[in-house]
Amino acid sequence: MVSEVPITVRKHIVDLDKDVYDYYGPRGVFLVHRTQQDHRIPRHHAIYVDTGKLIETERFQQKLQSYVETEFARAPDLILGPGHPRATRLSALLAERLHARFGRTIPQFSHSNLFFEADQSGHELPASLARLTENNEIVIIDDAFVTGTRLYQYSQHLRYIGNGYRGRVRFLVAIARPSSMSEWTEARRLLGYRPRLSNDGVSPERNTLDAMEIVVLPNWGYTECPWCIEAGKLKTYKPEGVEPPALFADRQELLDRQSLAGGMGDQLFLSPGSRLPIHLAGGSLFTADKSPSTAFASVAGGLKRLRTDPDEVRLGPHRYPLATVLESKEYLKTVYTDSLLRASFFRAAHKEELQYHDPDKEKQRTIYAEELINDESGQINNLALELLWATVEEKLPTALLSKISDERSTELGIAEEAQYVKNISRSRGPI
Ligand SMILES: [Zn+2]
Repeated sequence: MVSEVPITVRKHIVDLDKDVYDYYGPRGVFLVHRTQQDHRIPRHHAIYVDTGKLIETERFQQKLQSYVETEFARAPDLILGPGHPRATRLSALLAERLHARFGRTIPQFSHSNLFFEADQSGHELPASLARLTENNEIVIIDDAFVTGTRLYQYSQHLRYIGNGYRGRVRFLVAIARPSSMSEWTEARRLLGYRPRLSNDGVSPERNTLDAMEIVVLPNWGYTECPWCIEAGKLKTYKPEGVEPPALFADRQELLDRQSLAGGMGDQLFLSPGSRLPIHLAGGSLFTADKSPSTAFASVAGGLKRLRTDPDEVRLGPHRYPLATVLESKEYLKTVYTDSLLRASFFRAAHKEELQYHDPDKEKQRTIYAEELINDESGQINNLALELLWATVEEKLPTALLSKISDERSTELGIAEEAQYVKNISRSRGPI
């Protein structure tokens, strides 16, 4: 017997990150489906945080200012960062504020990982580090903390420079966006460690890891990005002898293009141009910002916290005999009544977090979805195509497809598209 526990999104979970979305959302900091190309290997982010924009805001600069005022008892000996434009800018801002506070110009260096060949002569950075002692202090900066890979590399390679750097390190990032708060806590613990310097029993001051902003967000690349998945399905499932309707052909073109052209702030969801756009009427529990990409990020982040924050029962994959499933009534009927939030739930939740084990509850879920499609209000029925598409990703029962009449699809201006989604589902198996 499977024990099914309905999971609801509670306000105190969402409130943990809300002010970050409220402030940075309207400033265009949160985008989706973006390939970042200034690394050696391009990296795709389902949710992209534009740290270049974030660093320029007043809120960020004030936080940096107070960090410099409260954390530093003396000027550090150098600042080091990875050298991409956003890190270089952060390094310059920090150096400027340290100069204002201590009247000293702090040398700034850039290196991607601090790995040097055996012969370190001829490099200014290893020479500078080798001159420092256990009483010195350096700052290592980066624009974002995702998993901490780069900071761990820096920390490790510092041991091999000269006779090994033994001074204190302050790690500082503009924003930490770990997949869970426990990953962040663990990073602070690991990077904070400094070996005892001598046998006198005195522990040295720990290293520090600080972030000016923190949000919990899923770290999704190509394989988990909802828009990469959509583009992949549009490419893979081509019903035989049927040309895709213009909406889907355009959609595939848009998704391919925007991934490389800076990501997407809107047009996140499937909706015919003739219908009311899928947007937020006002703010939401998740964020006061109305932009689709911020709303999506805040929902995805909220669900990620539900999966990872310490609690009695967490949202997540079925672990027999326990199944934790999002309470369908909340996102399809009573609580989240904006199409944009509903669409975000479908895109951000995994299918096993939406599907009930109990067939009767799945029937009820189908009825809720059907009611939305048949609703008279254009603010509600504009979700129709997105709901039909959810069946392709197995996030709603395929039974929904046969419940929507051709007349209704025609009224909604999605007759061709609905038929195409049915064909895709048929090509995958019986409806
Ligand atoms: Zn993507």
